[in-house]
Amino acid sequence: MTKFLSIGLHWFNHDLRLDDNPALFEVASTNDRLICLFVVDPRWFKSSHYQSAHMGSHRWHFLLNTLRHLDVSLQAHGQKLHVMVGDPLRCVMELVEQYEVNTVSTNIHSGLYERQQWQRLKNYGEHLRFIEGQGHSLFNPEQLPFSVNDLPATFTPFRKHVEALKIDRPIRSKTEYPPIPNGFTAQWSSNLPIDKVQSSEFSGGEQSALRQLNYYLFETDLIQSYKSQRNGLDGWDFSSKLSAWLANGSISAKQVAAAIARYEKERVQNESTYWLRFELLWREFFYWYARKHGGRLFQLAGVQQKRPLTSFWPQRFARWCAGNTPYPIVNDCMKQLNATGYMSNRGRQLVASCLVHELGLDWRYGAAYFEQQLIDFDVASNYGNWQYLAGVGADPRGHRRFDLEKQTQQYDPNNEFIRRWDGHASSLPLDDVDPSDWPINWQ
Ligand code: FAD
Repeated sequence: MTKFLSIGLHWFNHDLRLDDNPALFEVASTNDRLICLFVVDPRWFKSSHYQSAHMGSHRWHFLLNTLRHLDVSLQAHGQKLHVMVGDPLRCVMELVEQYEVNTVSTNIHSGLYERQQWQRLKNYGEHLRFIEGQGHSLFNPEQLPFSVNDLPATFTPFRKHVEALKIDRPIRSKTEYPPIPNGFTAQWSSNLPIDKVQSSEFSGGEQSALRQLNYYLFETDLIQSYKSQRNGLDGWDFSSKLSAWLANGSISAKQVAAAIARYEKERVQNESTYWLRFELLWREFFYWYARKHGGRLFQLAGVQQKRPLTSFWPQRFARWCAGNTPYPIVNDCMKQLNATGYMSNRGRQLVASCLVHELGLDWRYGAAYFEQQLIDFDVASNYGNWQYLAGVGADPRGHRRFDLEKQTQQYDPNNEFIRRWDGHASSLPLDDVDPSDWPINWQ
């Protein structure tokens, strides 16, 4: 008699790692055969309503690199990554039907779109078993002392509620994975978009993420001065630089938290080690914020449902994107972002404040441009922070406007950053056309 073989499919999304991947661990532990899938959606590369694409060249380069490393790691465990291009739901369903998959697993992402896709799959596949891992956050919903709908409106009460909670230990990868099903060939689609970036400071993959974590903590002890250095604008060492790996899940927040705890036990526990964990809690706050607020994350009026007064000046937006405004510090940051895919946290605050307050533009255009350009784009952290700065989100003070002159004196007193990125003020007046593109300032 032929033995019935159960077939699992793990749908990788922003969890591109083997260690501390709860959904992958479970599907691999409870099935005889396994398909490891990643789907590239061609819509990522098309222009959105806000004139930007969802994915720009820096993140695409990083993602491709990460997928290659993930494939190598899977192969070392007798598995292989299958990469398709197309509508994600259709791709998953095609495999489910063709290979008689019984179980589909994924880690629940904060993004509304990703969660809607997962829900549609669940509606369609009543005959399937679904595994939902909580691989993107520090805590499970059951660990939180409130329901997701009762998430505190601002960060500080959230932090006070969760700071003392125990963070579960990261789980280790399985040493062996079930093989791929008979008759299935894991391969990479030949329709993947071309990678136009030659090199980047960020190299993709789980091993690179762990190397950077080790570098920032145990190799250099840079973590010991994180609190005083974290407002830097340029360079590699002023902050952990873990965001890109955290965003695509090459490393988990739990792994980072566990490493900080080990560092504190073995070396030093100080304000800076506390502060790096504190920043992970910001990330956590925005994860649950996105889960709670769904579509409001993308609305002009934000979660506060408070519509800011704004108009749209195409020329102002184009100048902001290109780093060609009357504000040198903003220009530097935008040029740095365009060239590298990364911008410091201080820089992000300054350019966002400029777009909202100096240029009077709709914050969603800025957020969408960040989505396209950032190598570490994370839907919850990006849109959550933009709402915060636009005064429609989680900021208890609201309307936070940065004095760009003062900030330049404080964070770039010798103009080193400005010289490096050639961000001198545009010699043009802020506007030489009006919002409908008619020339002004005629002689
Ligand atoms: P570190 O200072 O070393 O912090 C460690 C980790 O803590 C980060 O990797 C990140 O995961 C988390 N973290 C730190 N600050 C924040 C914060 N304010 N909000 C949420 N998490 C935080 N971060 C993203 O990961 N993706 C984004 O798309 C993103 N968009 C942003 C947009 C705006 C307008 C602003 C103001 C901030 C945004 N941030 C975003 C948060 C922050 O700027 C970056 O996480 C940080 O600069 C990344 O560098 P790092 O890893 O060296 O951070």
